[in-house]
Amino acid sequence: MTGPGRHRSGRPPGATNGVEATNNLGERGGGIGAPTAGARVVAQQHSGRGAPARRTAAEAAEHQRAWRMQVQVRLGVPWGHNLTWSSGALPALTCLARLAGAPAFAGLSARTLLLDESVPTTLERADGNWEAALQGIANPAPDASINDLAAAFNAHIWPSRTQPRTRERNWAHWAPVVTWAIARGATHHLMPMHRDTLKALSWDFLMMGASRSQIVAVWSAVQSRHMSFGFDPPIQRRGEFSIWTRSLGHIMGRPMALKLPIHRSIVARLLRWHPERVAVDRDRLLTVIATIACLRVSEVARLQACDVWFDHFTGMGIPGYDGTCGIFVAYRKNDSERKGHIPGLGRARDPALDVVGQLRTWMRRMNLLVRSGCTKRARPAARCPTCPPLFSRTVTAAGGRVVATERALSAQMVGDAIRRSAEAAGCDARRFSGVSARKGGLSTAIKAGVEEVILYLQTGHGPERAARRYMHLRDPARLLQTFEAFRL
Ligand SMILES: [Zn+2]
Repeated sequence: MTGPGRHRSGRPPGATNGVEATNNLGERGGGIGAPTAGARVVAQQHSGRGAPARRTAAEAAEHQRAWRMQVQVRLGVPWGHNLTWSSGALPALTCLARLAGAPAFAGLSARTLLLDESVPTTLERADGNWEAALQGIANPAPDASINDLAAAFNAHIWPSRTQPRTRERNWAHWAPVVTWAIARGATHHLMPMHRDTLKALSWDFLMMGASRSQIVAVWSAVQSRHMSFGFDPPIQRRGEFSIWTRSLGHIMGRPMALKLPIHRSIVARLLRWHPERVAVDRDRLLTVIATIACLRVSEVARLQACDVWFDHFTGMGIPGYDGTCGIFVAYRKNDSERKGHIPGLGRARDPALDVVGQLRTWMRRMNLLVRSGCTKRARPAARCPTCPPLFSRTVTAAGGRVVATERALSAQMVGDAIRRSAEAAGCDARRFSGVSARKGGLSTAIKAGVEEVILYLQTGHGPERAARRYMHLRDPARLLQTFEAFRL
């Protein structure tokens, strides 16, 4: 049990048999034995010192520096020169791609260890307009081999089995694993990985001050990488992953950093408020719509003028739905069919809370028209190349007037807008974030007893089940139940 002591001194363990040494933590206690045993050691050491030992920032920085030097030494000349590092809590190289030729990776598959698929592919960036994008990709040569064709499929289609954001997260947590393996001289232990290796690196990460969620994210990244390259993952049996996470959870607890939902009274307050400034007005309306329509920040950022379907309910031929609209959400996270969802905004009883009217006013004021050449209705899954974003960035024009541009907000900006609006409505900004809007809409609907299947059709919340793909609910009253739950 030399690990903790050595780490505490700020010196990275440099022994060539580092992995084996760490493995001495051992299997004796069965699957969840090692982390428990390890944490007990930490607890003992801490209690021995009298006070809960929290690593100081200086200690952590020193530790990081030592790990980085260790990586440099392992890589040797010339590979160890000019390394670039991520800013995360765990030491992680950001230049792994150019290390493929380093002796540390000799004889190993660079693709399985170092391939970064996190950048959205050409076809993904086309956002539904994939035929056009496909034309931009070179045709296979007449004498292309099966390998060439498979490589093209791997480059352009295969990454899309996982969302780009998930891929980005997985890569961000895989990079520290590879970096760790370089430092420990254990690159040949990575793919496929034995469960002991996973435990070993988890222990190191724990000693570096990684949080529970970081370690779990590393485990997910390792699992997912194994599956995508056709290897058996280190955590194999069904249900075993939760046993692993439980081992950490019992020791480290789970921090309660839950963000609060935006509830009905905030929505009402925002609807009654009419700020002068364009950006503030945009943030306010965006927050209301994101909440009622249960939108994720990325979905709000993608909305275009032609996604507001004022005729969605009136067009069903049932009278009484004037002044309503549908918000077309082309693509949602678990919408593997790219079919879209159309949450509805109904007509408020209180004219001061008329969200559809306010949306119309906003679109008129910002000149957000559905333009000629709009492709939305013909190809709803594809991004419309002609219409402007519904909520766009603003700039200060000559004379100090703030005007909207045609550049869409980023998801991050939408999140900030939601937090600012919650604050303007009198809430503690620290307890709110972008997720507060969707959370508010879903919890309001669930509390009002909206059926799961209706909620799914509107929001994509809940498991995707085959039957739902074929469901066509044609009763506007049912489809507006989520809106009704807000009692506006
Ligand atoms: Zn359009």
